[in-house]
Amino acid sequence: MANQPYEIIEHEYDVVVLGAGGAGLRATLGMAATGLKTACVTKVFPTRSHTVAAQGGVGAALGNMAEDKWQWHMYDTVKGSDWLGDQDAIEYMCRNAIPAVQELEHFGVPFSRTEEGKIYQRPFGGHMSNYGEAPVQRACAAADRTGHAILHTLYSQCLKHDATFFVEYIGIDLLMEDGVCRGLVAWDLDTGKIHRFRAHKVVMATGGYGRAWFSCTSAHTCTGDGNGMAARAGIPLQDHEFVQFHPTGIYGSGCLITEGARGEGGYLTNSEGERFMPNYAPTAKDLASRDVVSRSMAMEIREGRGVGEENDHIYLHLEHLPEEELLKRLPGITETAKIFAGVDAAKEPIPVLPTVHYNMGGIPTNYHGEVVNPTKDDPDAVCEGLMAIGECASASVHGANRLGTNSLLDIVVFGRAAAIRCSETMKAGEPHKAIDESLTDKIMERFDRLRNANGEHKTADVRLEMQKTMQTHAAVFREGPSLKEGMDKIFEISKKLDSLKVTDRSMVWNSDLVETLELENLMACAKATIVSAEARKESRGAHAHEDFPNRDDEEWMKHTLAYVKADGSVELDYRPVHTWTLTDEIEYIVPKERVY
Ligand SMILES: Cc1cc2nc3c(=O)[nH]c(=O)nc-3n(C[C@H](O)[C@H](O)[C@H](O)COP(=O)(O)OP(=O)(O)OC[C@H]3O[C@@H](n4cnc5c(N)ncnc54)[C@H](O)[C@@H]3O)c2cc1C
Repeated sequence: MANQPYEIIEHEYDVVVLGAGGAGLRATLGMAATGLKTACVTKVFPTRSHTVAAQGGVGAALGNMAEDKWQWHMYDTVKGSDWLGDQDAIEYMCRNAIPAVQELEHFGVPFSRTEEGKIYQRPFGGHMSNYGEAPVQRACAAADRTGHAILHTLYSQCLKHDATFFVEYIGIDLLMEDGVCRGLVAWDLDTGKIHRFRAHKVVMATGGYGRAWFSCTSAHTCTGDGNGMAARAGIPLQDHEFVQFHPTGIYGSGCLITEGARGEGGYLTNSEGERFMPNYAPTAKDLASRDVVSRSMAMEIREGRGVGEENDHIYLHLEHLPEEELLKRLPGITETAKIFAGVDAAKEPIPVLPTVHYNMGGIPTNYHGEVVNPTKDDPDAVCEGLMAIGECASASVHGANRLGTNSLLDIVVFGRAAAIRCSETMKAGEPHKAIDESLTDKIMERFDRLRNANGEHKTADVRLEMQKTMQTHAAVFREGPSLKEGMDKIFEISKKLDSLKVTDRSMVWNSDLVETLELENLMACAKATIVSAEARKESRGAHAHEDFPNRDDEEWMKHTLAYVKADGSVELDYRPVHTWTLTDEIEYIVPKERVY
């Protein structure tokens, strides 16, 4: 801008972490501990990040309750991913799960305990002993408030080290010069000032984009900001078509009832009072992986066996469990059921429905957390200066479907990995080169355009239209014509971004503008999701395509790359799945049919 109207406050750091959920805090802590000058920029207070809501547990083959091995955990994760996961990254995660969880214990996470004082572990969907034999107790739990325990502990550990927090700052965009990331620009909501953070490494840890749908379990702040920023920086969004529906969102509100409830012995029934999961998954039953359970529930409802007045949901039973066990192991969800369903879980079943819960796709990375921006010759080319970890990233350990407990694991393992990588490849206090000023001007031009937007469409109206379209067309079951219709609708709705109306022009606590910035990010995520889904002509993991009911490894065992262009269009490309392991201690797990 010729007359840049915004005063800009400058900062220089070795590393800037964007986001203070479990992933961002674990990285911040690790970076600061190795002496790198580290800033953590976050739009909500760290302990209010969505990680706080995680209930069930963090997966690690500790073997505290019965024999377990990281190799079994790896097998389950590869199978859970429906062979779309990168096996080098999966090996890294499952192997490092054990030291990463032990480290959490030493940091002070108040895990529940066994009689002998070891970390308590419960069974969880898709986690099996001996390469798929029977459910195994692998989920390390702090009652049903595991995320809360982890997030608070990590934040207190961060305070012990010399990291600087910038709280209630909205990251707007990355400073990208010739394909290299040199920092980011953020807006301080409290003072209304704009801040420019120069950094040798930016670590995106901005979480998922569940709010692109009408009904989801995630917080209102899960708006895919990091994915939107990456897309605007020319980086593709990987595997966005894979969206996890959690089987047990409370009917109506979408609030989550953890899978730990089924881990503790809960089960599902239809309108005939029949426990139907054994018909679909004879071995794992109610503990089959989430895509399988969600689809089975959808089948029961579709065939007229849903419960309630409109036969449109399913019952989850916990009332057969001893009341004192329920209160000890699942205190939070007992409360949630009372508040959001008006149900006493110790006496009656909870009404539930599959609800959007997790985004498997995201910013592509390798297992160090470095962002991958493929070139013609190298599908694994690294984008200099940029890392991504946690739910905004795609490492890809979850592939086409994530197993429960593997995300709390992903955030601590890759938060830790990013810090290890930086400690090995960076020196503290290196000077920053001068930066092309027009980069900041361009970012502020977009900001200024949105702030002064004076069109005809309210942000909240456009958002609702997008959410309803995604709910209907990017659903548990998908089919060609509906995906095509959804895609056309999303492109129509997204045109309204050019004529938005923002009524508040102020710079301090302008929630209208915050939601507008978030909507642009959500829309990029929604487009990448539906375009990638429409193109994938097979069924794999969470992508259940009715016209193509089988997995097609020959044609489709590849990662989708969706480039969301500045003109609003989306271009697709693909990159190979990593079919090798990290060490020769374990062999590549060859694809086979996925049954539970
Ligand atoms: C209800 C619920 C229960 C779950 N239970 C489990 C479980 O039991 N086990 C399991 O493994 N997984 C579980 N998950 C999934 C798991 O909790 C999440 O995937 C994980 O916690 C995400 O962590 P994160 O650090 O990537 O992101 P988040 O915790 O979502 O944090 C994102 C951070 O980014 C910041 N941010 C975002 N955008 C911006 C911006 N523009 N500018 C500045 N800051 C920004 C936010 O302030 C926040 O600090 C659950 C998820 C939900 C919703």
